[in-house]
Amino acid sequence: RANQQRAFQPGPAQRFMKIGVLGAGQLGRMLALSGIPLGHEFIFYTDRKDSCAAVAGEVVHGEFDDKVKLAAFAGWVDVVTLEFENIPLSTLEYLAQHVTVYPNPVAVAAAQDRLDEKRLFDELGIPVASYHVIDSLQDLKALAPQQDGPYIIKTRRLGYDGKGQAVFSDASQASDIWFNLGEVPLIAEEKVPFSRELSIIAVRNPQGEIRYYPLCENRHQDGILAHTRVCRDSALQQQAESFAKRVLEKFDYVGVLTIELFDCDGKLVANEMAPRVHNSGHWSIEGASTSQFENHVRAVLDLPLGETAVLHDFHMYNLITKMPDSTALLSIPNLHLHDYNKTPAFRRKLGHLTVYPATGDTISRVEALLTTT
Ligand code: AMP
Repeated sequence: RANQQRAFQPGPAQRFMKIGVLGAGQLGRMLALSGIPLGHEFIFYTDRKDSCAAVAGEVVHGEFDDKVKLAAFAGWVDVVTLEFENIPLSTLEYLAQHVTVYPNPVAVAAAQDRLDEKRLFDELGIPVASYHVIDSLQDLKALAPQQDGPYIIKTRRLGYDGKGQAVFSDASQASDIWFNLGEVPLIAEEKVPFSRELSIIAVRNPQGEIRYYPLCENRHQDGILAHTRVCRDSALQQQAESFAKRVLEKFDYVGVLTIELFDCDGKLVANEMAPRVHNSGHWSIEGASTSQFENHVRAVLDLPLGETAVLHDFHMYNLITKMPDSTALLSIPNLHLHDYNKTPAFRRKLGHLTVYPATGDTISRVEALLTTT
């Protein structure tokens, strides 16, 4: 009997892994919801009170400089990854002394600072908007917009969903912009005349295997992603994949990486990168052979990556500020609702839906429901 039991022991590869995730928001929740079916467990570490990932794993509350809690967390897990990028580099480096941290903290640090990111893209030959470094009000005044159009002024760090940004179109705005953005280091970017916004999501595992999702075409509203659908354009896809490959290989990157792009008449210009799963990839849960979340889990566990082929051309809509009526939404065929169980607040992402428009009026029904919310 003992022998029979031994025959059922897992092999040398550990079957059940504990994945530590820094952050406990919806991206962490969806990572866990994709990794649990593979048999793995998730533990989240967060410095915030609201943790919508809590339904999918234990949550450790601690500051990102609490070395005692971080060391304990590292001891409980097999690998650490992250669901948001603004984690101090010192935290990632400290954790990396105790446990494997994916992606590479150096890559995460580059994505935290818009100037470092621009310099990285420059170094890798990835086109970006022309930019100026602004370290003081004097620098901003000296840049007074000329006839060639306004500048987009952005804080170098901690900006997201259009926060930490201002349009600089007239020299008289310099002081207001400097003070409103918090008197912090800035970057001034040329306003790119793009026709549409795209993103490329790629994933790499420790073996160096890389998979790319098809380009996503993204529509924003008030600086927040509102809608995504897959964009099929082989020339653009080739450019985007080559950009992503350069970044992935530069850092020996493991996990999902996203690069946001502007399409300028068939020439792609990189805007920024996210060292994590991305809102523009949510369609892949229902729309791709393997979702971005499952592929991130596979990558950080050094497993073979899954196919990224599109199964159905799903549209993704974010549900922001207030949740629409779920009964009405669910009466629409081929619609999948993801409610993150978050307390509604102005401009907060509360959920998303994906819908496969098998019939002609599906999209108009969805959009009518979203606009009446
Ligand atoms: P970001 O936080 O950099 O993703 O910027 C938020 C949004 O602002 C982008 O999705 C674009 O719609 C717009 N934007 C940002 N940078 C530029 C730029 N240099 N030129 C034109 N539009 C921009």
